[in-house]
Amino acid sequence: MEEAGEVQHAAPPLPSPSRSSPHSQGSEAGERYSRKVFVGGLPPDIDEDEITASFRRFGPLVVDWPHKAESKSYFPPKGYAFLLFQDESSVQQLIDACIQDEDKLYLCVSSPTIKDKPVQIRPWRLSDADFVLDASMPLDPRKTVFVGGVPRPLKAIELAMIMDRLYGGVCYAGIDTDPELKYPKGAGRVAFSNQQSYIAAISARFVQLQHGDIDKRVEVKPYVLDDQMCDECQGQRCGGKFAPFFCANVTCLQYYCEHCWATIHSRPGREFHKPLVKEGADRPRTLPFRWC
Ligand SMILES: [Zn+2]
Ligand SMILES: [Zn+2]
Repeated sequence: MEEAGEVQHAAPPLPSPSRSSPHSQGSEAGERYSRKVFVGGLPPDIDEDEITASFRRFGPLVVDWPHKAESKSYFPPKGYAFLLFQDESSVQQLIDACIQDEDKLYLCVSSPTIKDKPVQIRPWRLSDADFVLDASMPLDPRKTVFVGGVPRPLKAIELAMIMDRLYGGVCYAGIDTDPELKYPKGAGRVAFSNQQSYIAAISARFVQLQHGDIDKRVEVKPYVLDDQMCDECQGQRCGGKFAPFFCANVTCLQYYCEHCWATIHSRPGREFHKPLVKEGADRPRTLPFRWC
């Protein structure tokens, strides 16, 4: 099944990364936004039904917020919520109805006690999930880092710029989105054009992401793939299976089968190395373009 997805991506000849519709797969023509929209600064006494009623004129929707099911609360506890529209066209209509102030969008919403409070509407533009800084460079998964805990409104271009300023050599940045709503999941990946920048980034382990209102320390790790052969034996000692382990220590930075992991890490000074575990299994398998 994974194969099928990759074949689809590999089919068009892509000698180098291209910005051409990385999201075209499975999306309707003209779709520009995620169907999930953030709403912030809601009146404290507005409940789920009132939020739904406030946005119903744009089309069918469901209102959600973190831990909504467990909390049994009728009110979003932190004054923000997510609108999950059935149709993407509803999001475009909502945006058209908003008032723009600098780069922020607002819409007036009423609760039982507060009339016409401007609330912030933050849609997610699909094209903000990928950014190619240097299209001449092939994307090397071995020079790609995983960035965990990325604040939701951060765009790929912003992640690319921050990482390039810190480590140089960024050729691509991507924000991981969920396949259903195509909304950011809070993680991203950055590909570097050279080994020095890659090692500098993973050696730092944490990076301070600063951009506009955002200032957050996030984790940086090597991006671990599940379809790599053991770098020591090329699969000879493990029946040609993909390597289950990756050693992120800069003295190794290799994929190993179980046999080779044990051999290499019995050497003095390497006993303390720990295999890096791949990030959540639901990570998107198909990448926006073919890796080199
Ligand atoms: Zn091996
Ligand atoms: Zn190691």
